Amino acid sequence: MVSARRLISRIVYGSRYDRVHWTQRVYVRPGERLAREARWRWRLRRAPVVPLADYAARTPLGAIEEFVSCLMCGQSRQQPLFEPANGDGWSYRVVRCPSCGFLYRNPNVRPEHLGDLYATGYSGFLTGDYAANRQRRYRLTMDAFAPVFSDGRGRRLLDFGCGAGLFLELAEQRGFEAYGVDLSPDSVEQANARLTRARAYFGAPEDVPEIAEGGFDVITLWSVLAHLPRPLSDFSLFRRLLAPGGVLLVLTVNARSLLLKAYGPTWSGFTKNHLMFYSAETLRTLLSRTGFAGVSYAPHYGDAVEAGTDRLTEPLRRRLRRTIEAADGGNMMRALAFADQEAIARWGGDRRVHRLRTRAQARPVPAAD
Ligand SMILES: [Zn+2]
Repeated sequence: MVSARRLISRIVYGSRYDRVHWTQRVYVRPGERLAREARWRWRLRRAPVVPLADYAARTPLGAIEEFVSCLMCGQSRQQPLFEPANGDGWSYRVVRCPSCGFLYRNPNVRPEHLGDLYATGYSGFLTGDYAANRQRRYRLTMDAFAPVFSDGRGRRLLDFGCGAGLFLELAEQRGFEAYGVDLSPDSVEQANARLTRARAYFGAPEDVPEIAEGGFDVITLWSVLAHLPRPLSDFSLFRRLLAPGGVLLVLTVNARSLLLKAYGPTWSGFTKNHLMFYSAETLRTLLSRTGFAGVSYAPHYGDAVEAGTDRLTEPLRRRLRRTIEAADGGNMMRALAFADQEAIARWGGDRRVHRLRTRAQARPVPAAD
């Protein structure tokens, strides 16, 4: 199968794109975006839509799992799409909401068991090259949303899901009064060994008095959103913890990624502990239901391209950027959410701000959600 595909692409494209990294090829080969998008639409039309009861009756349920309806719009019907798996022995099922298009794992992890996923060994790989690459990614994203992160003096920052403190280290260097929380005790210990003024805490924000008092100018979620089983209550909390004029930064895998459309169940965004997969559209739903006033996006072209360390020729680099913008198809999504009108006025700058009707005011989110 794979060799047949290789043969076809050899016939269509020759050897012209052999030197382009495979994660960039789909963005630069002529015609590929339209072909992948057409195939994706065909896949969605073909996938059956089933009531939740039928889906649950035929789907195995793990000890720490539960069946859920769409958390964004409440739709209970399910459109099963993928069963990602890998050699380490994990696998799960990804469904699509037929009403709003939200992609999520179903069955999902019961929130009271979320800590189980991170209890031990989660911090092991956060070192060396990984650390350098992560910090490069943080810098590139901070640049994309300049000047929000340029000068942290006199400003409070919370890094939710701070891991081993790689971002908190940059935040304290930029002058922020920085705090972090994480569910992995090992990571929190590593973070505090790395940091000088910033502090990392184990547990939930509500359990740490310095954090629970709120008044944050910035909250960051670096590759954390996809891990949250109860995003509505988490985002309601973030909204309460933000000071007037505050902003929330989100970086997460992009459910509209052209690489997902190309690779389906083997997409790099389907990692072991990811639970939900957002697009710009479903993130807007989440933000408007939890009281945010607006959101801006910065397309992600890939860290190598943004840092200038890729090996693309200039015409191919331009084509990659055009494809990502036309498809909203970058592999990651980066968003800056504004708590209120003051935040939009202060940080919106000249970027496009999607203003949100705060549905939370008209229809409160149930506390149990
Ligand atoms: Zn939905």
